[in-house]
Amino acid sequence: MPNDAFGHSQPALRTCAPEADVATRGFATRAIRTGQDPCKATGSTIVPVYQTATFTQEAVGVTKGFDYSRSGNPTRQALERQLADLEGGRFACAFGSGMAAANGASFSFLRAGDHIVATKDLYGGTHRLFSDVFPRYGIETTYVEMCDLAETRAAIRPNTKLFWVETPTNPLLKIIDIAGIVALKRPGQIVAVDNTFATPYWQRPLEFGADVVMHSTTKYLSGHSDVVGGIVITSDPELHAQVAFQQNAVGAIPGPWDAYLTMRGAKTLAIRMREHERNAHAVANFLDSRDDVSDVYYPGLRSHPDYELARKQMRGFGGIVSFRVRGGAERALELVRHLRIFNLATSLGGVESLVCSPWTMTHGSVPADRKVELGLTQELLRLSVGIEDEADILADLGHALDATSAHAAVYAVA
Ligand SMILES: *Cc1c(COP(=O)(O)O)cnc(C)c1O
Repeated sequence: MPNDAFGHSQPALRTCAPEADVATRGFATRAIRTGQDPCKATGSTIVPVYQTATFTQEAVGVTKGFDYSRSGNPTRQALERQLADLEGGRFACAFGSGMAAANGASFSFLRAGDHIVATKDLYGGTHRLFSDVFPRYGIETTYVEMCDLAETRAAIRPNTKLFWVETPTNPLLKIIDIAGIVALKRPGQIVAVDNTFATPYWQRPLEFGADVVMHSTTKYLSGHSDVVGGIVITSDPELHAQVAFQQNAVGAIPGPWDAYLTMRGAKTLAIRMREHERNAHAVANFLDSRDDVSDVYYPGLRSHPDYELARKQMRGFGGIVSFRVRGGAERALELVRHLRIFNLATSLGGVESLVCSPWTMTHGSVPADRKVELGLTQELLRLSVGIEDEADILADLGHALDATSAHAAVYAVA
């Protein structure tokens, strides 16, 4: 049985539309259609949840393309095809969490003695992986301000193997020039991009020359805060083979139910992202208009230092807004207590609005002095703006700011 583009043999129940037709399809169509052909055996319109560990063989070595669910499962394969297509990639490997995917998109390519150049304000879990796990295997990481290409170039060593880019950054939403980083790369080096915040709807790093893209599908791709997962996408067959080997050898795979939930969520990515962005823009403008808010971080604001780069690299600015209130840490804590639409929770990218305090929550494990160095002060709050009605979201923020304005006044006098 011939192998399909995903490195698994192609099962009988999958048929592909003609290439030419598929290639011209728009994003929303791909999200709903790619990998989602009706089941040939039953006509099931929706890809079934293949809740099976093993696959019965007709004779020794004669399979329908699957033999064991760690190595390959039809529900997971459908998800991999769908998400690879959305990133404009040829291959994908799904993982059981975003961190397993981050490991798959880095460790798969590395050996003892290799060096990583990584974004300074990295997702906390990735920082922990690179700083507390990899050194035990002889892999070192240098963290740089990747918005500064000269600083990034200066960090490159003869043994640098991987550039790890996260843009927009978390939680200050700086924009890193993906093409600029790709231009620094020498043969044999790999540029990997964590595209979780932007999603392929707004940003497709492979188009700028990145080699590998990873996501925590827990966030926007699944979109409903009900499943943890990750994905690694590339168009390079060599790199894909290394990630697929890791996926099977280490076995950090998602179960079929999680693959199914993620795939179902991703079908509505286009329509959700448009709403997330519309609401986030409104929130950023609203916060920007308030005197009791000192800083607003949203790449879609003209005042954002990377606004022009964001416009060049992204098709839209996403759904995350960070801000600093006047009135210090006390007011930030008080404000969070007054919010009703925004749940106080880690994570992002679901349909519901969430608020978090990076200082204690997402970056709680980062040492205090490093947080201050990164600009993550206690009065900083990060919003994952959901797709509830705009008026309700703005009213909630307005109410919470008004209810805590005494703090701001005290602060101004003091
Ligand atoms: C959440 C997140 C991760 C980790 O993903 P999990 O699904 O929580 O393991 C990695 N990178 C970014 C940018 C994230 O937001």
